[in-house]
Amino acid sequence: MAVYIDSSDRLLHDQAHSLALTCPHCLVLAHITPMAVPPFSELSLYRPRQIGIVYRCDACNSPIFLRFNVRSYGAQRIELSAQFTEIERPREKFTFTYLPEAIETLFREALLCYSHGAFNAFTSMCRRTMQTAFELLGEPGKLRLFDQLNELREMAQIDATSFTVLKRVIFGSDSDPGGGLPILEDDQAGILLEVMKDLLYQAYVRRGRLQQAMVVRRFFSDQTDRSGAAATYAATATAAAGAASLSSAASGVRAADAARNTT
Ligand SMILES: [Zn+2]
Repeated sequence: MAVYIDSSDRLLHDQAHSLALTCPHCLVLAHITPMAVPPFSELSLYRPRQIGIVYRCDACNSPIFLRFNVRSYGAQRIELSAQFTEIERPREKFTFTYLPEAIETLFREALLCYSHGAFNAFTSMCRRTMQTAFELLGEPGKLRLFDQLNELREMAQIDATSFTVLKRVIFGSDSDPGGGLPILEDDQAGILLEVMKDLLYQAYVRRGRLQQAMVVRRFFSDQTDRSGAAATYAATATAAAGAASLSSAASGVRAADAARNTT
């Protein structure tokens, strides 16, 4: 695969039509189009070992910065390495709303480490996050999470080696003999990420969402009770007036109908 900049400042990339990546802005796997390429004359003058090119995400039009190593400087073309570094990587997302602040702070940093490909820093932050969660949830909470991890193993069909590693990261402690953090492979870091999200979701987000939904439900059911009572009162008052006027009775019916419509 050849990538080069020619003496007319054009970027020539024989795989350009299939150049796609996950956009760090819209998170869509999209084709990218070069927008700003450094001029040939400047590059030839300064001969940097790495150069930056700005692309446009075809899905959301945001700029995407890529860095390439220069392979060689020629009289007519500057050849670049086909591999590039993404300067901004897609950020991992999570619903932080229901997490206690101490856990949110740590897990946000864990996700930041993951997004930057710093998998060992990510592993350390996962352990700190879970240690804080265990402190807050107490022993029963910790046991629940342990059961959940076992459940996850079956559901997600995690292999035995990766599972041992995950368990050590999440439930191990720095003071255990041999409890030091293992070095994770890229794919194990990916599994750890999904497991962490699920454990925190079950421990906090699911419960928080349910509790909020219940509060909203109770609020509307109280509202309905109150408006129902008001309609009954109106109807009784109308009857007590001896149906002196048909129009007032009709308005009582309308009030009762209106009350029914709010349920
Ligand atoms: Zn995009």
